[in-house]
Amino acid sequence: MAAKKSTKKSSSLFLAAKKIIPGGVNSPVRAFSAVGGKPLFIKKASGPTITDADNNTYIDYIGSWGPMIVGHAHPAVTKALAKAAARGTSFGAPTELETTLARMTIDAFPSMDMVRFVSSGTEATMSALRLARAYTGRDKIIKFEGCYHGHGDSLLVKAGSGAATLGIPSSPGVPKTLARNTLNAQYNHIESVEKLFKKNPDSVACVIVEGVPGNMGVVLPKEGFLQALKKVCRKYGALLIMDEVMSGFRLCYGGAQQVFKIDPDITCLGKVIGGGMPVGAFGGKKEIMEQLAPLGPVYQAGTLSGNPLAMTAGIATLKILGRKGVYPRLLKRAKTLTDGITKIAEKAGVECSLTSAGAMFTLFFNAKRPVDYAGACACDLKKFSRYFKRMLEAGVMLPPSQFEANFIGLAHTPEVIGRTLEAVEKCMKRL
Ligand SMILES: *Cc1c(COP(=O)(O)O)cnc(C)c1O
Repeated sequence: MAAKKSTKKSSSLFLAAKKIIPGGVNSPVRAFSAVGGKPLFIKKASGPTITDADNNTYIDYIGSWGPMIVGHAHPAVTKALAKAAARGTSFGAPTELETTLARMTIDAFPSMDMVRFVSSGTEATMSALRLARAYTGRDKIIKFEGCYHGHGDSLLVKAGSGAATLGIPSSPGVPKTLARNTLNAQYNHIESVEKLFKKNPDSVACVIVEGVPGNMGVVLPKEGFLQALKKVCRKYGALLIMDEVMSGFRLCYGGAQQVFKIDPDITCLGKVIGGGMPVGAFGGKKEIMEQLAPLGPVYQAGTLSGNPLAMTAGIATLKILGRKGVYPRLLKRAKTLTDGITKIAEKAGVECSLTSAGAMFTLFFNAKRPVDYAGACACDLKKFSRYFKRMLEAGVMLPPSQFEANFIGLAHTPEVIGRTLEAVEKCMKRL
C-alpha cells in the first residue's frame, strides 16, 4: 500500500486563505465541510486529472462542478483562448463571437427563439425570474425542495447543493417579504404543485425546475412529471422555467427538455456552455425575450456579459461536443463506470443505489433510490464521508458531498474508468 498522501502545502495555503477569505473558499461547496478535513488547493489540471499543491494527482469527477466535459485544459480550448486573449480580453461592445455562441445554443435548444448571455448560472436564473414576473405581472414563484438555482434571494428557500450540505437551505439575509413569494413543492409530487396553484390561482408567475435535478444528488423525473408540470403551468397562466445550468449538454447535445420532450417558456444555461469560463445564459420564446431592455422595459445588464474569452471557450467546447459520435461515446463510458460501481457495491454488500442521467450520476448511500429531497436526506451521510475519504486517498476526487452529482467527461477514457473501478473496489470493502 502506498504511503499516505502528504497535504502539507494545501493545509498551509488553506490557513493563509482562511485569514482573509471567509472559510478560505470563494464558494462553500469547495470547503469539504460535509466530509471533514481540509480542501485541497489545486495547482493544475489536465484531461481527467487534477493536481494539488503537494503534487498529488487525482482522477477528477468534479470537473469544476460540471463545465469541464471535454476534459481539463483541452488543447482546442486553450489554444482558442490564447489567441482570443491576445486580441483583447474585454471590449464592452458586441462581438461576432456572441452571435456565434447564441446561434449554437439556440440550435441545440429549439425551445429558445432568443438568448442572452450573462456571467453565471445564478445571474441566468435571477434574470429569468425577473422576466417571468414582468411578463405575467405576478410575484410568486414555485420551486422544488432540494433543487438549487444559484444563490439569488428568491431561490435560496429550501435550496439544494451547498445550501443543503451546510444545513442552511433557507439562508438568513433573504428578506421575509421576498421569501413569502417563494412557494416550495416536492419534486416528483405533482399534487404538491397543484395544491400551491389552487391556493394561489392568479399570483404565480412561474415554476422553476432543474432539467434533471443534480443538486440533491441526481434524481430522475418520474414518467409524465414534467409533462404534468407544463400542463398545470398552462392551466394557471404561469411560465415554466427549465434550469438546465447543470443538465444542459450533459444528457445529449441539448438539454433534458430534448430527452423528455418538454417545451419550456424560458431555459437557463451555464456550466458547460462556458467551457470553464464564467458564462450563463437564459433564453426562450421571442415575445417573452423581447421584454428585455433595450427592446422592452425589463432591465438586465452586465459589464462582462458575453465576454470574448468566455464566448471563445464556450464555442470551442460546443464544437468538440457537436462532433459525430461524441455523445454515444460519452454515455457508453458513463454506463461502464456506473454499472461497474453498482456491481462492486452489490458484491461488497454496501447498501446504496445509483442514479445516473447522461454523463452525471450520484451514488446514494440509501438502498431506496431517492425520488425527492426527503429521500436524498435519508442517506447515510457518515458512510458517504468514509467512502469519499477513502476514494481521495486512493487517488480519486469525488464531489465532497452526498447532495452533488459526479461528472464524467470525454477525458475519462476506458483506462481511466478501469483505474477508478479498481479504487472503488478497494474502498467499498468493509465500508
Ligand atoms: C450550478 C447551478 C446554478 C448556479 O450556477 P452558478 O454559475 O454557480 O451561479 C444554477 N442552477 C443549477 C441547476 C446549477 O446546477
